[in-house]
Amino acid sequence: MRSTRRIIQVLFFLFFIVLFIKARYPYSNALPSDIMLRFSPLVPVFDFIANFRISLLFWPALIILLLTPLLGRFFCGWICPLGTTLDGVSHLVNSPDNRKSIDAKKWRSAKFILLVGFVILAIFSVPVWGHFDPLSIFNRALTVVLYPVFTLFSESTLQALTHIRFMEEPVFAMFDFFKSWIMPEDQAQMQQVFWIALLFGGILALEKVTRRFWCRNLCPAGALLGFLSQFRFYERLVADSCPQCGKCARECKMNAIPEDDATFTNKVECIECFNCGVTCPPKIDAITYRWRWKPYHSAVDYSRRQFLGSAVGGVGAIGLASIGLHNKKAQARVIRPPGSLPENEFLDQCIRCMECVRICQSNGRCLQASGVTENLEDLWTPVGEMRTGYCEFNCNLCGEVCPTEAILPLPLERKKQTAMGLAYFDKDLCIPYAKDEDCIVCEEHCPTPDKAIKFDEKEYIAPDGSRRMVKYPYVDENLCIGCGICEYKCPLKGEAGIYVTNEKEDRLTKEDLVKPPAPKSKSKSQENALPY
Ligand code: SF4
Ligand code: SF4
Ligand code: SF4
Repeated sequence: MRSTRRIIQVLFFLFFIVLFIKARYPYSNALPSDIMLRFSPLVPVFDFIANFRISLLFWPALIILLLTPLLGRFFCGWICPLGTTLDGVSHLVNSPDNRKSIDAKKWRSAKFILLVGFVILAIFSVPVWGHFDPLSIFNRALTVVLYPVFTLFSESTLQALTHIRFMEEPVFAMFDFFKSWIMPEDQAQMQQVFWIALLFGGILALEKVTRRFWCRNLCPAGALLGFLSQFRFYERLVADSCPQCGKCARECKMNAIPEDDATFTNKVECIECFNCGVTCPPKIDAITYRWRWKPYHSAVDYSRRQFLGSAVGGVGAIGLASIGLHNKKAQARVIRPPGSLPENEFLDQCIRCMECVRICQSNGRCLQASGVTENLEDLWTPVGEMRTGYCEFNCNLCGEVCPTEAILPLPLERKKQTAMGLAYFDKDLCIPYAKDEDCIVCEEHCPTPDKAIKFDEKEYIAPDGSRRMVKYPYVDENLCIGCGICEYKCPLKGEAGIYVTNEKEDRLTKEDLVKPPAPKSKSKSQENALPY
């Protein structure tokens, strides 16, 4: 059984990686990349808390949740890519066995405390669980840290190898293959790398303390599946021939077997890895796995006092989550992807997985993981950073790959008419206003069919009395969709002469998708004053 589990675990891991690599421009949704994130058992549960619905969108996770009371935490042992990564790291760093490691049992309840705290926060519409969802952690680390580092490393290695004369041809062939299938067009430039790497690196580093420290003690998905596994029917049975040598208890990666009673399995913790059956000495071979129709109950390591503690902690954290920056300028620059739900719903639905950022970096490259702009809730949600990228007019891929439909899957024609915001000229910087000289770069790049940037041509009288005609640009707010290519292409160094803000952004709901887009009001063109 252990070999079967290992093969399936590796296949699932490769499946996740292939789907991740596939999430790039050009994209085919014959096998949707976002399906991997829909395996997360937390998503339908928190979706239910936020919306009182059971969405079939998350069918892989619903199947896992339905099977867990029968089979136990098989998701953790067989499917979860973060769990598989931790198993790999544990081998690399040679994690201590249960006897040598610290008494980790006393930490077990931390994951239940966290889960209950997240539930309470979600009830009060403070969605922070996505930051700790294992699949989001994995995908976020791949997107922001591991993939950019990997591509940078492989590109520079291949480039170095081309200098060796006889290696040139095979290296160029390999380079072509990498470029077509794995590497991005341009090296991704990610924000929030430090904090995302710190969280992921910390989880990996804890393998030096005990095996699967994160899964045993901290993972909220593990806690949820543990709750559901208390009475499970498929389990480990230990024959009377067991001499209580304690080997299986020492080797169990979840510390689910007490050292003084090897016949007992803590079903809340066991992840069905079947390692214990292999560690049992072959001469004794006391362990089998079978259905038991009269199962015993494994209690959750979670007292009433701890429940009260997490409830109070959750309520206290509501205040903490609302502490933030009240910087109008930063808030005006929070530009959500095209087709995003209204802000509160967006924050509820977004699991901070960075799948949209991943696919955007392979095309227009405007989406980034945000820092704290208003409060902790918006940490690591996607925002458009138009000075480093722009929303490609002919692309609607972020909506195609968002697993929760926090960004709606807009048809391309609809996306082209959906405003992410509105551009404003900064007259202190913009060349025609600041220097009374022509510059038409932004107008040239504006992709809207009727050009959202127009000009007022006026005569300018220089201090020496000479006269010339200068084109002063302005933005037609009925045409601008806030794509940001004007800000990106602005030739000024540093700050651009034109900025996109989230004013006049279109936020859509599913119901809006079946209606034609609302006509833009025929208001007077903007006065070009920044809105902050
Ligand atoms: S405990 Fe969490 S991270 Fe670990 S395998 Fe289970 S779901 Fe994945
Ligand atoms: S909006 Fe982006 S980060 Fe949020 S759930 Fe969708 S794809 Fe993931
Ligand atoms: S953001 Fe700039 S380039 Fe994009 S539509 Fe508006 S004016 Fe045109």
